Amino acid sequence: MQVKCPTCQRLIEWAQAPYRPFCSERCRLIDLGAWLTERHAIPGDARALAEENLHAPGQQTPD
Ligand SMILES: [Zn+2]
Repeated sequence: MQVKCPTCQRLIEWAQAPYRPFCSERCRLIDLGAWLTERHAIPGDARALAEENLHAPGQQTPD
């Protein structure tokens, strides 16, 4: 069975591809990096974190 490497679209033999579904470790790392970059780019996450930090100082209770 042949599949396309998601990164470079090269055809690879599934049974003989150690880094499947990628053709190589390099393509696997490239795809992982792209995925992580996309996650960082999600606007909602960063804003929620910033708001949490803004609220934090006011929530300090004298104890
Ligand atoms: Zn590839």
